[in-house]
Amino acid sequence: KPMEGRITDIGPKHYDQFYPEVIKKNKGKWSHHEILEPGVLVHVAENGDEVFTVRCGGARLMSSTHVQEICDIADKHCDGKLRFTTRNNIEFMTDSKDKMEALKADLAQRKFPGGSYKFPIGGTGAGISNIVHTQGWIHCHTPATDASGTVKATMDEVFSDFQDMRLPAKLKISMACCLNMCGAVHCSDIAILGYHRKPPILDHEYLDKVCEVPLAVASCPTAAIKPAKVELPSGDTVSSVAVRNERCMYCGNCYTMCPSMPLSDKEGDGIVLMAGGKVSNRISAPKFSKVVVAFLPNETPRWPSMTNAINKMIEEYAKGARKYERFGDWTDRIGWERFFDVCELDFTHHLIDDFRDAAYQSWRQTTQFKF
Ligand code: SF4
Ligand code: SF4
Repeated sequence: KPMEGRITDIGPKHYDQFYPEVIKKNKGKWSHHEILEPGVLVHVAENGDEVFTVRCGGARLMSSTHVQEICDIADKHCDGKLRFTTRNNIEFMTDSKDKMEALKADLAQRKFPGGSYKFPIGGTGAGISNIVHTQGWIHCHTPATDASGTVKATMDEVFSDFQDMRLPAKLKISMACCLNMCGAVHCSDIAILGYHRKPPILDHEYLDKVCEVPLAVASCPTAAIKPAKVELPSGDTVSSVAVRNERCMYCGNCYTMCPSMPLSDKEGDGIVLMAGGKVSNRISAPKFSKVVVAFLPNETPRWPSMTNAINKMIEEYAKGARKYERFGDWTDRIGWERFFDVCELDFTHHLIDDFRDAAYQSWRQTTQFKF
């Protein structure tokens, strides 16, 4: 329906236009829901109406033909309606068990030529859902690693836990390709974070021509950048900037403001693994993730050191945690020392947060390991 007073077509239409009929009818009148099997849920309304949801993994990047196929499935089984979850799962909803069974059978037989599922069903309950992630080498300018590659390599390794619910509790994995962190790595059970280890490279010849020097200076959260006059090899003196490397935390903010300060570096860039965070306040309070692997190189295209470390953490969690215990609850109970032992991870000085700032006058501002 047209929005009153609307003068442009910018932005999405109001979401209530996209509800399936059974959801529109029962809005605010739900009794309960349950997971019938991995990837299949039923929501029951107070009047007995039911909504059956089939959840499928979504691809990191989708072609227009794939999107068309998703729309065709929705047209065929779900009156043209579907939804995406925050973790990029696709949810197809029907209003009867028979329709849901037909939908499931249809999804299961849709495969790529190599035989892999186009629409794998799963991602519910005490298993691993799709990885929430950022943009990586394809779309962003500051990544220290790739999003599509690391997510694909990880999901291929943990796929059986996407289809299954054998874990003690849900296990959320997230990925952000730099520490500006468009993903949710600060509060996930296991997180993959792209990390730069070298300060920006200064292209003095062009800096003053393509950047505003005051903007570049102001972009730095640690005040590591100051204006400078620099003599070029040609003998000309130009306005540029100087970076105090010891203050730099390799965040890339300056490069966002100034293209003459790139910091991508094959040797310097790689991956940090974090663990033990969660957003939920069920059983225990929400927690921030801690850095548990300080650095892994970018081993394209399959990142084996990263997936091995993640697999080991998941297996030890599956073996050692009590039912309903989230990853961070398990590490808190057994102690982080024991966590490093059983997961065969090295605890090094790189994992200890030594950030100090005169403004804070305290060590207690961090969620990370301290002396
Ligand atoms: Fe870009 Fe960083 Fe966001 Fe990745 S996390 S998309 S590199 S800003
Ligand atoms: Fe400052 Fe971040 Fe640039 Fe380093 S990378 S100079 S901390 S803005």
